[in-house]
Amino acid sequence: MTRRALDPAEYPVLVIATHNAGKLREIEALVAPHGYSVQSAGDLGLPEPVEDGTTFIENARIKALAAARGSGMPALADDSGLAIDALHGAPGIFSARWAGPEKDFAVAIQRVRDELTWRDAREAPSARFICALTLAWPDGHCEDFEGVALGALTFPARGERGFGYDPIFIPAGETRTYAEIDASEKQEISHRAEAFRQLDAACLG
Ligand code: IMP
Repeated sequence: MTRRALDPAEYPVLVIATHNAGKLREIEALVAPHGYSVQSAGDLGLPEPVEDGTTFIENARIKALAAARGSGMPALADDSGLAIDALHGAPGIFSARWAGPEKDFAVAIQRVRDELTWRDAREAPSARFICALTLAWPDGHCEDFEGVALGALTFPARGERGFGYDPIFIPAGETRTYAEIDASEKQEISHRAEAFRQLDAACLG
Protein backbone atom coordinates (compact mmCIF):
# COMPACT_ATOMS: atom_id res chain seq x y z
CA MET A 1 0.00 0.00 0.00
CA THR A 2 1.42 3.39 -0.96
CA ARG A 3 1.18 5.97 1.76
CA ARG A 4 1.11 9.69 1.11
CA ALA A 5 4.11 11.32 2.81
CA LEU A 6 4.01 14.69 4.49
CA ASP A 7 6.42 17.32 3.13
CA PRO A 8 7.67 19.90 5.66
CA ALA A 9 8.65 22.24 2.79
CA GLU A 10 5.00 22.37 1.67
CA TYR A 11 3.45 22.32 5.13
CA PRO A 12 5.86 23.38 7.90
CA VAL A 13 3.07 23.44 10.51
CA LEU A 14 1.10 20.40 11.63
CA VAL A 15 -2.18 20.91 13.46
CA ILE A 16 -2.73 18.55 16.37
CA ALA A 17 -6.44 17.90 16.69
CA THR A 18 -6.52 17.85 20.47
CA HIS A 19 -7.39 20.18 23.29
CA ASN A 20 -5.20 18.09 25.63
CA ALA A 21 -1.84 19.72 26.52
CA GLY A 22 -0.25 16.35 27.42
CA LYS A 23 -1.01 14.80 24.02
CA LEU A 24 0.23 17.98 22.28
CA ARG A 25 3.62 17.78 24.05
CA GLU A 26 3.99 14.07 23.24
CA ILE A 27 3.23 14.62 19.53
CA GLU A 28 5.42 17.74 19.31
CA ALA A 29 8.42 15.72 20.52
CA LEU A 30 7.79 13.17 17.79
CA VAL A 31 7.41 15.52 14.83
CA ALA A 32 9.93 18.28 15.74
CA PRO A 33 12.98 16.25 14.56
CA HIS A 34 11.33 16.02 11.12
CA GLY A 35 11.18 19.81 10.75
CA TYR A 36 7.56 20.46 11.74
CA SER A 37 6.21 22.81 14.33
CA VAL A 38 2.82 22.08 15.83
CA GLN A 39 -0.26 24.07 16.74
CA SER A 40 -3.22 22.65 18.57
CA ALA A 41 -6.74 22.83 17.23
CA GLY A 42 -7.64 24.57 20.48
CA ASP A 43 -5.03 27.33 19.94
CA LEU A 44 -6.42 27.91 16.44
CA GLY A 45 -9.93 28.33 17.87
CA LEU A 46 -11.25 25.34 15.93
CA PRO A 47 -14.41 23.80 17.39
CA GLU A 48 -14.32 20.22 18.72
CA PRO A 49 -16.32 18.00 16.35
CA VAL A 50 -18.85 15.45 17.64
CA GLU A 51 -17.07 12.09 17.94
CA ASP A 52 -19.90 9.88 16.73
CA GLY A 53 -17.83 7.24 14.95
CA THR A 54 -18.21 3.57 15.84
CA THR A 55 -14.48 2.71 15.79
CA PHE A 56 -11.29 4.32 17.08
CA ILE A 57 -10.20 5.05 13.50
CA GLU A 58 -13.54 6.65 12.60
CA ASN A 59 -13.25 8.97 15.58
CA ALA A 60 -9.61 9.82 14.84
CA ARG A 61 -10.65 10.61 11.24
CA ILE A 62 -13.51 12.85 12.34
CA LYS A 63 -11.13 14.91 14.50
CA ALA A 64 -8.26 15.02 11.99
CA LEU A 65 -10.47 15.94 9.01
CA ALA A 66 -12.33 18.66 10.92
CA ALA A 67 -9.01 20.24 11.93
CA ALA A 68 -7.42 19.91 8.46
CA ARG A 69 -10.43 21.39 6.68
CA GLY A 70 -10.89 24.11 9.31
CA SER A 71 -7.24 25.21 9.24
CA GLY A 72 -6.15 24.51 5.65
CA MET A 73 -3.16 22.62 7.07
CA PRO A 74 -2.47 18.93 7.63
CA ALA A 75 -3.77 17.66 10.96
CA LEU A 76 -3.06 14.70 13.21
CA ALA A 77 -5.58 13.20 15.63
CA ASP A 78 -5.53 10.22 17.94
CA ASP A 79 -8.29 8.21 19.58
CA SER A 80 -7.58 5.51 22.09
CA GLY A 81 -9.06 3.25 24.72
CA LEU A 82 -9.20 -0.10 26.47
CA ALA A 83 -10.98 -3.15 24.98
CA ILE A 84 -11.75 -6.07 27.31
CA ASP A 85 -12.43 -9.44 25.66
CA ALA A 86 -14.83 -10.71 28.35
CA LEU A 87 -16.87 -7.51 27.87
CA HIS A 88 -16.95 -7.92 24.07
CA GLY A 89 -14.54 -5.03 23.57
CA ALA A 90 -16.05 -2.58 26.11
CA PRO A 91 -15.38 0.11 27.19
CA GLY A 92 -13.66 0.59 23.78
CA ILE A 93 -14.48 3.95 22.21
CA PHE A 94 -16.38 4.81 25.40
CA SER A 95 -13.26 4.47 27.61
CA ALA A 96 -13.15 8.15 28.54
CA ARG A 97 -16.93 8.28 29.08
CA TRP A 98 -16.89 5.45 31.65
CA ALA A 99 -15.03 7.87 33.95
CA GLY A 100 -18.12 10.09 34.06
CA PRO A 101 -18.37 13.88 33.88
CA GLU A 102 -15.76 14.25 36.66
CA LYS A 103 -13.28 12.17 34.58
CA ASP A 104 -12.76 10.00 37.68
CA PHE A 105 -10.96 6.81 36.68
CA ALA A 106 -11.56 5.19 40.06
CA VAL A 107 -15.21 5.20 38.91
CA ALA A 108 -14.29 3.76 35.50
CA ILE A 109 -12.13 1.01 37.06
CA GLN A 110 -14.90 0.11 39.52
CA ARG A 111 -17.34 -0.14 36.61
CA VAL A 112 -14.97 -2.53 34.79
CA ARG A 113 -14.72 -4.64 37.96
CA ASP A 114 -18.52 -4.61 38.40
CA GLU A 115 -19.22 -5.65 34.81
CA LEU A 116 -16.85 -8.62 34.92
CA THR A 117 -18.15 -11.75 36.61
CA TRP A 118 -16.36 -12.70 39.81
CA ARG A 119 -14.66 -15.59 38.02
CA ASP A 120 -13.54 -13.49 35.03
CA ALA A 121 -12.03 -10.87 37.32
CA ARG A 122 -9.94 -13.51 39.16
CA GLU A 123 -8.56 -15.06 35.97
CA ALA A 124 -6.52 -12.18 34.54
CA PRO A 125 -9.07 -11.20 31.87
CA SER A 126 -7.39 -10.47 28.56
CA ALA A 127 -7.57 -6.90 27.30
CA ARG A 128 -5.85 -4.58 24.88
CA PHE A 129 -5.14 -0.89 24.65
CA ILE A 130 -5.72 0.50 21.18
CA CYS A 131 -4.51 3.78 19.70
CA ALA A 132 -5.74 4.99 16.31
CA LEU A 133 -3.90 7.84 14.62
CA THR A 134 -5.11 9.70 11.54
CA LEU A 135 -3.12 12.19 9.52
CA ALA A 136 -5.49 14.24 7.31
CA TRP A 137 -4.72 16.70 4.53
CA PRO A 138 -6.89 19.77 3.71
CA ASP A 139 -7.98 18.02 0.48
CA GLY A 140 -9.59 15.25 2.56
CA HIS A 141 -6.92 12.57 2.06
CA CYS A 142 -6.33 10.48 5.21
CA GLU A 143 -3.70 8.04 6.36
CA ASP A 144 -4.71 5.85 9.33
CA PHE A 145 -2.57 3.82 11.74
CA GLU A 146 -3.45 1.58 14.66
CA GLY A 147 -1.19 0.50 17.52
CA VAL A 148 -2.23 -2.26 19.94
CA ALA A 149 -0.80 -3.31 23.31
CA LEU A 150 -1.97 -6.76 24.45
CA GLY A 151 -2.23 -7.58 28.12
CA ALA A 152 -4.43 -8.66 31.01
CA LEU A 153 -6.31 -6.97 33.81
CA THR A 154 -5.60 -7.26 37.52
CA PHE A 155 -7.63 -6.30 40.58
CA PRO A 156 -7.26 -4.40 42.85
CA ALA A 157 -5.62 -1.51 40.99
CA ARG A 158 -1.84 -1.16 41.53
CA GLY A 159 0.61 1.71 41.02
CA GLU A 160 0.64 5.49 41.15
CA ARG A 161 2.05 6.42 37.75
CA GLY A 162 0.31 6.90 34.41
CA PHE A 163 -3.35 7.75 33.97
CA GLY A 164 -6.73 6.31 33.08
CA TYR A 165 -6.88 2.51 33.24
CA ASP A 166 -3.11 2.10 33.73
CA PRO A 167 -3.38 0.73 37.31
CA ILE A 168 -5.34 -2.39 36.21
CA PHE A 169 -3.49 -3.19 32.97
CA ILE A 170 -0.49 -5.56 32.87
CA PRO A 171 1.12 -5.57 29.41
CA ALA A 172 2.02 -8.97 27.94
CA GLY A 173 5.36 -10.29 29.22
CA GLU A 174 5.26 -8.06 32.33
CA THR A 175 4.26 -8.60 35.94
CA ARG A 176 3.83 -4.88 36.69
CA THR A 177 0.87 -2.73 35.72
CA TYR A 178 1.30 0.24 33.38
CA ALA A 179 0.99 2.42 36.51
CA GLU A 180 3.98 0.64 38.14
CA ILE A 181 6.22 0.98 35.07
CA ASP A 182 8.43 4.00 34.48
CA ALA A 183 6.93 6.55 32.06
CA SER A 184 9.88 6.21 29.68
CA GLU A 185 9.48 2.41 29.65
CA LYS A 186 5.75 2.74 28.95
CA GLN A 187 6.56 5.12 26.07
CA GLU A 188 8.58 2.31 24.46
CA ILE A 189 5.93 -0.41 24.65
CA SER A 190 2.59 1.37 24.59
CA HIS A 191 -0.13 1.22 21.95
CA ARG A 192 0.44 4.94 21.32
CA ALA A 193 4.17 4.40 20.76
CA GLU A 194 3.40 1.61 18.27
CA ALA A 195 0.95 3.77 16.29
CA PHE A 196 3.46 6.63 16.18
CA ARG A 197 6.22 4.31 14.97
CA GLN A 198 3.98 3.30 12.06
CA LEU A 199 3.11 6.93 11.24
CA ASP A 200 6.74 7.98 11.51
CA ALA A 201 7.96 5.26 9.14
CA ALA A 202 5.18 5.76 6.58
CA CYS A 203 4.57 9.52 6.43
CA LEU A 204 7.29 11.48 8.22
CA GLY A 205 10.34 9.50 7.05
P1 IMP B 1 -9.46 9.87 24.02
O1 IMP B 1 -8.61 10.97 24.62
O2 IMP B 1 -10.81 10.27 23.60
O3 IMP B 1 -8.72 9.11 22.98
O4 IMP B 1 -9.75 8.89 25.25
C1 IMP B 1 -8.88 7.89 25.56
C2 IMP B 1 -9.29 7.26 26.88
O5 IMP B 1 -8.80 5.92 26.85
C3 IMP B 1 -8.58 7.93 28.05
O6 IMP B 1 -9.40 8.82 28.70
C4 IMP B 1 -8.25 6.73 28.94
O7 IMP B 1 -9.38 6.44 29.66
C5 IMP B 1 -8.08 5.59 28.00
N1 IMP B 1 -6.68 5.38 27.64
C6 IMP B 1 -6.11 5.56 26.44
N2 IMP B 1 -4.81 5.31 26.47
C7 IMP B 1 -4.53 4.98 27.75
C8 IMP B 1 -3.33 4.62 28.41
O8 IMP B 1 -2.21 4.57 27.88
N3 IMP B 1 -3.45 4.34 29.73
C9 IMP B 1 -4.63 4.39 30.38
N4 IMP B 1 -5.77 4.73 29.82
C10 IMP B 1 -5.73 5.02 28.50
